[in-house]
Formats: sequence, structure tokens, C-alpha cells
Amino acid sequence: MTLANNTLSTALRRTIPVLAAAVMGMSAVTTDAIADATPAKQIFGKVKLPSNAAPSPIGFYAKGCMAGAVAIPTDGPTWQAMRLSRNRRWGNPAMINLLETFSQDAVKLGWGSGILIGDISQPRGGPMITGHASHQIGLDADIWFTPKPAQPLSVQQREDMPFTSMLDKSKFLTVSNQRWTPTHAKLVMQAASYPQVERVFVNPAIKKKLCDTWTGDRSLLGKVRPVYGHDEHFHIRMHCPPGTKTCKAQAAVAAGDGCDKSLAWWFTKEPWATPKKDPNAKPVKPKFTTLADLPKACTAVLAAPANSEAAATYGTAYSATPTADAPSVEAVVNSSAEQVETDDMTAPVPTPRPLN
Ligand SMILES: [Zn+2]
Repeated sequence: MTLANNTLSTALRRTIPVLAAAVMGMSAVTTDAIADATPAKQIFGKVKLPSNAAPSPIGFYAKGCMAGAVAIPTDGPTWQAMRLSRNRRWGNPAMINLLETFSQDAVKLGWGSGILIGDISQPRGGPMITGHASHQIGLDADIWFTPKPAQPLSVQQREDMPFTSMLDKSKFLTVSNQRWTPTHAKLVMQAASYPQVERVFVNPAIKKKLCDTWTGDRSLLGKVRPVYGHDEHFHIRMHCPPGTKTCKAQAAVAAGDGCDKSLAWWFTKEPWATPKKDPNAKPVKPKFTTLADLPKACTAVLAAPANSEAAATYGTAYSATPTADAPSVEAVVNSSAEQVETDDMTAPVPTPRPLN
């Protein structure tokens, strides 16, 4: 057994009684679990199924968790989920709905036979052992810059297929004109066009390309945000669904198309310089997010009873042979003890765009 495993099992041994207490409504959550230094990603990364509860994003995109997640089916008419072994195709129902709509719109604008979906969230959200800082509350999803091929990819192909960067790596921060096409631009802008989408993250070179070439509605360009990476996939972030009080909204993007000095900064040396080290500084142990750093409700989410994968897979209509008695996610949601605004969460509700 590795040291990491040892630490994890110790943490879980200590945590589980505390979690049970949390479920029973006792307020003993402040003891061992809080004092425990186990990174929360180790705990959330081991959970295989979502909680059986009303769908609820809890906390912030980069510091939170999710109750009552639903999974997008691995295969749909206009999408395939990738890297299935990661078990990160879980999200808020609003996200799963959006991806379905987006996949259909992608086909309409010429993006192959649909979209390849990367990571959404873990079954109960939370921090991940590998990869992302965000994607913790079921409202972030990665889409490959590779269209779904007409011939469906096998499970193994979905594990092994390499990412394709949109950058010309022989140059500094430059989109490859061999790989990038006007359809790529349309795809990103389509994602930005939905009112329930809050931000779309792309590489700064891609943002610049859009700034230089986009002739459609420029008002949506402001939602497209430059960030490190994101050259072989882009990232869709949704607003907190209306009425979800436990979800912490992000500050609105600034007005304008963002093709300004905030973009120009990425083309200076500053974002790429290695941080200067203070020779006198004491070495600091890396500090990982622990359960204590997350909203308290996340401890209860971890302890809550699991929903089954079948019951929590959204859109049973897409299975090859739909069974009449398969419980729909709506049924699961409606049978939940907690009151939830199901209508609001399943239908795309326009959210007014902030003025600044
Ligand atoms: Zn992402």
C-alpha cells in the first residue's frame, strides 16, 4: 500500500463516522474531518456515484461540490463522452440539457456529426486528483476541438485518442491556420450565445483569432475569456441556475468584446515568466483543499446515500433500446424529499446579461 493510500484510508476511517453524524443532523462535523489534513480531492476522487438528492450546485466553481448530479449518456445522437474511465460525465441537469442542445446546434453549423465531451464533474463534484481547478459544482464542461466522427468511437478509442492542439507550436501563442477553421470559430461563438452560459474559456491565441476574424455579433465575444491551456478543448461555464441559493456566482465579465489590453497582456512576457524565487524564503508545504475548506454541506453530500448510475443518467430516451419502466431523472428528482424548482432547472432559462 502506498503512503497516499494509507493516508486516504485513515482519513476515510476518521471521516465516515463524522459524515454519518452529519446525515443524522448532528453538528459534530467540526471534529476529525475538519482537523484532517487529507486533501478533499482524495476523498471526492474515490466516490463512484452521485448522491440521491435534489440537484444542487454547492459553493463556487473552484471550491464546492454537487448534490443530485445526473450523467450525460456516454453516447447520444450528436455526442460522445470521452475518457469514460475518469467518471467525470456528471453535472447539474441544466448542464446536461445545455450540452444536448449544443451538440445539435454544432451539427447544424457543420461540426461533423456532433461534439466530443470531455470532463464535466465527478459524481459528487468537488476537487479532482488530476486536471482542473474548477469543474467542482457540475456547471463546467470541456468540449474537444475535434468533432465527433461519423463512425462512433469505441470505449478504448475514447481513452486513447490524442488531443489536437489548435496552436502552431513552432510560434509564440499563435493559432495554426492548418487546423483552425471558420467552423471552429462558429462553434465557440455558438457556445457563448446561450444566455445560460456565463463564460467560455479558450487559449489566448484563440481569443485573439476570434477578435481578429469574427464578423458576427461582437457583443458575445466578451464572454470568451483567454486563459492558459484550452488549446485542444474549450470550456463552457454556466451561470448558477436560477433559484439555487447554495451556488456562488462569479463576478460578471467586463463590458465589451475583451479584445483589449486584457488580451494584449497575454502576449507580453509576464504571464509566461517563471515566478521569481525569494532565496531566503522557507520551503512551504503545498496546501491542499481539505473538507474544512469547502462549504459545510459538502461533508453531508459525501455521506448521503447514492443514486444508481442508471437512475441518474439523464435522457434515457437516447439508450438504444429504451425501456418503458426506466426511471427518468425527472422522476428521481420529483421523488426527492427536498423541494426543487425542477422546471427552472431543466428548461434553459434566459438570464439577463449583466451590464458590466
Ligand atoms: Zn475545463
